[in-house]
Amino acid sequence: MTEKIYEMDSYIRSFTAVVEECHPHKDGYAVRLSRTAFFPEGGGQAADTGVLGGLTVNDVQIVDGEIWHYVSAPLTIGVEVEGVLDWDTRFSRMRHHTAEHIVCSIAHRWYGFNNVGFHLGREDVTLDLDGELTREQIDAIEDEANRVVAANVAVTATIPTAEELANATYRSKKELEGDVRLVTIDGVDCCACCAPHVAKTGEIGLIKLLDFIRYKGGVRIHLLCGDAALADYRLRYAQSAEISARLSVKQHDITVAVDRLIAERDSLKLALRAANRRIADMQAATVEPTDKPVFLIGAEWDVETLRRVVNGLSERCVGLCAAYSGSDGVYQYVLGGSGDIKAVTAQMNGALGGRGGGDHRQSQGRVQASEAQIAAFWRELGADE
Ligand SMILES: [Zn+2]
Repeated sequence: MTEKIYEMDSYIRSFTAVVEECHPHKDGYAVRLSRTAFFPEGGGQAADTGVLGGLTVNDVQIVDGEIWHYVSAPLTIGVEVEGVLDWDTRFSRMRHHTAEHIVCSIAHRWYGFNNVGFHLGREDVTLDLDGELTREQIDAIEDEANRVVAANVAVTATIPTAEELANATYRSKKELEGDVRLVTIDGVDCCACCAPHVAKTGEIGLIKLLDFIRYKGGVRIHLLCGDAALADYRLRYAQSAEISARLSVKQHDITVAVDRLIAERDSLKLALRAANRRIADMQAATVEPTDKPVFLIGAEWDVETLRRVVNGLSERCVGLCAAYSGSDGVYQYVLGGSGDIKAVTAQMNGALGGRGGGDHRQSQGRVQASEAQIAAFWRELGADE
């Protein structure tokens, strides 16, 4: 069995060990060591990364109780090699993992909720609780968690005897067998966990609970802490400063300013639509009454306007009436008036690469054609230019 250095001292970032086994695995090699500080993937936390015997450690997994390090080239069995962890990543995970214990312990103590999931990956950290929380409750948990950070209390890991364990009160995601490692945050929490944690809560730095969603009858909360939370804050600050400069308002007023902008945009949209309808009506009114098919091509007409144009045209003309709007070779259409609408629609879709349909009174859809191709199609049907 490989000695788990990370279980007893999470701060060891380089170590030497003897290669006990090495065999080809997928595109590379699987290596088993006499001892390791590389934490294998488990409990929702990704495996440690780093270098082993000069080779990049791509992954570390526990298979049938043995820890395997996956590298790209073989290492000689019986030889001592040096392992070096990617410490920034590992330390960040220790901070996030300890923060997760604190947050879950508060949710458990205050609301009786259990931690039922945890994900500590390369990009994102989430924790799942089996009960729903409001933003206000999450904010209160966040405040309390940061008080635990500020109190800088000790975090220790122990493997108690069976008797000690029987008398201990601790949180656990599942029923445990064999040796149980208990992680205690002094005066705050005791939880069964095999992952590396920080030694004092002050090392975590800021704990920030970000978005949360309802998830499987509870909540999934996104969490950031320490440097990652600071980097996130820096980015968000820069973004809000940029928005405030562009909108010429104070940073704390950007939401109101954006609301105003959206309202303005919506009313401009309505005004534009009304103006486009007036133009459409005027264009339809210029068409002389005829018994030939007629068509109009307009700019920025929505389907409702297209329908309005076709209805306007069919009041004055006795044949087929069509209206188009679009650009770059894609035009929406509405086809109506009198005639075999279904047959003409099918014919047009075939000729102009179109899609769509309707009933015997009106059809709608889109064609992939130029204005000239649309005009040519209607000339064929007998329309004037
Ligand atoms: Zn843990």
